[in-house]
Amino acid sequence: MISQQQDIKKMADNNLICVICSVNYAGYGNDATPVADGYCCDDCNFKVIVARIKETQREAKRAYRVRRDAIFALRRAEENNKRTDEDAMEE
Ligand SMILES: [Zn+2]
Repeated sequence: MISQQQDIKKMADNNLICVICSVNYAGYGNDATPVADGYCCDDCNFKVIVARIKETQREAKRAYRVRRDAIFALRRAEENNKRTDEDAMEE
């Protein structure tokens, strides 16, 4: 037996019901990723776009931190090498 949830999903796959608000809509629908799996109406697509922008911002921040940490690690390594060279000259 098909559950109501599966039924909604199936209808959504045929671009009939929004997977987010369960409202009937006309047209092709919009990919609801990352908010939901399936297609959504134009009204809900606004929420989807906002969620995608936030996800992109989080990824950009993560990439920035990784790059910054790599630069700091490189600088520390260079400082350590310089100290080792200076110690070698004093001996
Ligand atoms: Zn909707």
